[in-house]
Amino acid sequence: MKVEEGFKSSTFSVPEDGSVLPLMEEFYTIQGEGYNTGKAAYFIRLGGCDVGCHWCDVKESWDAEVHPLTSIEKIVEKVSQLPAKSVVVTGGEPLLYNLDKLTSSLKEIGVETFIETSAAYPLSGNWDWICISPKKFKMPRPEILKVAGELKVIIFNKSDFDWAEEHAEMVGKNTKLYLQPEWSKKDEMTPLIIDYVMNNPKWEISLQTHKYMNIP
Ligand code: SF4
Repeated sequence: MKVEEGFKSSTFSVPEDGSVLPLMEEFYTIQGEGYNTGKAAYFIRLGGCDVGCHWCDVKESWDAEVHPLTSIEKIVEKVSQLPAKSVVVTGGEPLLYNLDKLTSSLKEIGVETFIETSAAYPLSGNWDWICISPKKFKMPRPEILKVAGELKVIIFNKSDFDWAEEHAEMVGKNTKLYLQPEWSKKDEMTPLIIDYVMNNPKWEISLQTHKYMNIP
């Protein structure tokens, strides 16, 4: 699949075939949030994001140029040395890049492929699970909303409930719906989310359990 709008600057560009990707960090841990909470998963965090969430907790991912371009072979080789059966590709915004090669190589070694994305860029890659966390600053693409396994809306203030409902109208009929308190506002927002979910049970609560467990 051709990526329409990959990351490019005058000094740095990621090849459109996705054979190398700007790798910010990779680690084996437990998926802490959303549908796959509690599963052991290898995280691949790609650098580069222009979505600009003011509450972003990985701002150091934004500049793709500071993260080394790393070959798919090298990334997949590391995964293959671990007992990991699931890989979460996250960012930054991973859909800035063509992820076809990465996911096909991961599937060749028998791991499930999960992505965490704002869905602001065209979909590439072969995914077992797509988690969309939509952002107000760059809207998600409707065609990706339709195929998402999970819509995870971060609740930063009360108006985000209405915003969550607007996006729930756009997903497929089997898409799981989650509300997750933004970490710095969790004491204020979690009680509101509890009430909201009890009154609107199509939604479920997602918590960042990895932060409670002090794991990455
Ligand atoms: S989309 Fe994700 S990485 Fe990008 S600014 Fe928002 S929270 Fe941060």
